[in-house]
Amino acid sequence: ATPTAVMVASEVGAKHGVLFRGGGAAIEAAKNVRHVVFDKTGTLTVGRPEVVTFLAGEKSTASLRNASSLLQDLVYVVESQSHHPLATAITKHVADLEGGRATENETTFKVSWIEEVPGRGMKALVNKNEFSVVVGSREFALAEVPQEEIFTENEVREIEHLEASEGLTIVVAVVNKRYGCIFGLEDCVRPEARKMVEKLHSMNIGTSLVTGDSIETGRAVATKCGIPLEAVHARAMPWTKVDIVKELAPSCFVGDGINDAPALAAASMGIAIGAGAPVAAESAAVVLVGDDLRGVVNAIDLARTAFRRVR
Ligand code: ADP
Ligand code: MG
Repeated sequence: ATPTAVMVASEVGAKHGVLFRGGGAAIEAAKNVRHVVFDKTGTLTVGRPEVVTFLAGEKSTASLRNASSLLQDLVYVVESQSHHPLATAITKHVADLEGGRATENETTFKVSWIEEVPGRGMKALVNKNEFSVVVGSREFALAEVPQEEIFTENEVREIEHLEASEGLTIVVAVVNKRYGCIFGLEDCVRPEARKMVEKLHSMNIGTSLVTGDSIETGRAVATKCGIPLEAVHARAMPWTKVDIVKELAPSCFVGDGINDAPALAAASMGIAIGAGAPVAAESAAVVLVGDDLRGVVNAIDLARTAFRRVR
């Protein structure tokens, strides 16, 4: 890139909330991008999930007194130990329900052992061996217990509907391999997402979505954004995100989380969004300052124009 092209793109970019941290190399890469891969949580969505549904498995809890509140209290003490946004949303939900008394849980229930499995959830023993608690994705929480033992057919259908039609993230909790419940969490799609994706398509640039969440939730969000359903990759781990980005090269990866750093670094052009993730910003050539997805189109547009102008 000529110094003038770099300067023009950098200056105009800065005015529009697009920081080319990588200088000329970043602008040159942006000009050649043919495909944009988006992370879901915190990138296409605002990244502040909220619990909108709770359901205790009727089959499993019929014989248990105060089942819902016992299950929620146990989940509260376990999720209090995690910094995951889903965990934060769930503990807030339980605390709100109990009007601040949720903190009493920490004296009633003592976590004896706990393990956080990235991209899956939490496993814990509470009050020595009185309670085993698993909280996380469906696959993770129901690995050792068939869901039919916990949920009725109607409940299973309801959960599938929440996931596929409403795009909720489902977190399942199982206690003592016997009692179960689910939390349905909603994370709003950024209002500018759909138009931005349409603009990319009109520029002849393809789009994909990768997520650690389920395929159902991934597809629901993709539909809201106009991303093709066949371009949705679910249950992705940080290294699968890298593989996808490399396969689609020269590609752009847009992400927010700490888990996204490898993909941001592997892409021809890494774009970090979301002020809360300095680690992501470190690995990205481009940073969107205003948390506005339109910056993705602007960055590519600017790079293309800058090169056209100087030639
Ligand atoms: P994403 O790629 O959407 O940011 P993650 O890779 O962080 O998602 O997590 C993937 C999935 O793992 C979540 O959708 C959730 O089902 C489960 N999970 C991970 N950590 C937790 C936790 N602390 N509590 C509940 N569920 C969790
Ligand atoms: Mg994320």
